[in-house]
Amino acid sequence: AKDTGKNNVQFYTQEMNASLEEKLALMEGLRTALHGEQFLVQYQPKVRLETGRVFGVEALLRWRHPERGMMPPDQFIPLAEESGAIVAIGEWVLLTACRQGRAWQDMGLHPITISVNVSPRQFDDARLVARVRRALEISGLDPKWLELEVTESLIMRDLQQSVAKMRELKAMGISLSIDDFGTGYSSLAALKSFPISSLKIDKSFVRDLDTNSDDQAIARAIISLSHQLQLRVIAEGVETTQQRSFLHESGCHDMQGYLFSRPVAPELIQGMLEGQADA
Ligand code: C2E
Ligand code: CA
Ligand code: CA
Ligand code: CA
Repeated sequence: AKDTGKNNVQFYTQEMNASLEEKLALMEGLRTALHGEQFLVQYQPKVRLETGRVFGVEALLRWRHPERGMMPPDQFIPLAEESGAIVAIGEWVLLTACRQGRAWQDMGLHPITISVNVSPRQFDDARLVARVRRALEISGLDPKWLELEVTESLIMRDLQQSVAKMRELKAMGISLSIDDFGTGYSSLAALKSFPISSLKIDKSFVRDLDTNSDDQAIARAIISLSHQLQLRVIAEGVETTQQRSFLHESGCHDMQGYLFSRPVAPELIQGMLEGQADA
């Protein structure tokens, strides 16, 4: 029994080392990925439930890893956040997305809102406001077409400071949206003080909307709250027509999800926008 115990400890340690090594290798990879042009941005349409029109897109980062192939953000954003690499990567996403938004407008397409995710480390960076301003200047995108998505939990870490920073960003003419709404712990009083224009219902509440009455109640509550506070409300992760109908009937304004489109290359967004040009 004693031997087995020892072996177990050894085995455990080896596994820990393996994952630590892997983690360090990924972190090292992240440092060079930006210069190696291994990142790309895909765009997922945001659609009006009433008309089916695309009114915006969310920029979503992808890493084309030289050995592992296409890596989803959940596998590297947390590491980039931990190592601090997210600040430079996030700045690149912001600039890339702003340039893309401007490029679509320069093609004569009807302007759409470009939404970019901001992580806690990026948000805390003292130069965030300057970086956003710079991305807008370099790209020539009018600030009214840029939206930043921040999570509820990010804001709630230091409410006063977050609200101050959000006000500064808003003063620049951009909009702010709360991502993953319902998964954090904002008090209603706090929510009222956020200088935001929309709430995003987290996909965990949308997934089982057809069958789970708790999720239905939560979705309805968030929608009604948005109406009371005169915010727009968008549901993410909409995959079925039943989910769409429920949301539409419950007064949700907008949706995003595989039902309409997965995140795609910018050329495909261009096609969608051309298709609705004169509608
Ligand atoms: P998020 O901001 O909540 O983004 C929504 C995620 O839901 C995206 O996953 C999107 O592809 C996925 N999604 C959209 N529609 C559906 C659907 O109908 N069904 C399902 N099951 N999923 C759907 P993705 O692209 O893998 O991104 C995951 C997370 O990584 C994002 O969650 C965001 O937190 C983070 N992320 C992505 N790009 C960036 C970025 O540029 N900067 C930062 N800081 N975070 C990013
Ligand atoms: Ca988001
Ligand atoms: Ca989300
Ligand atoms: Ca999420």
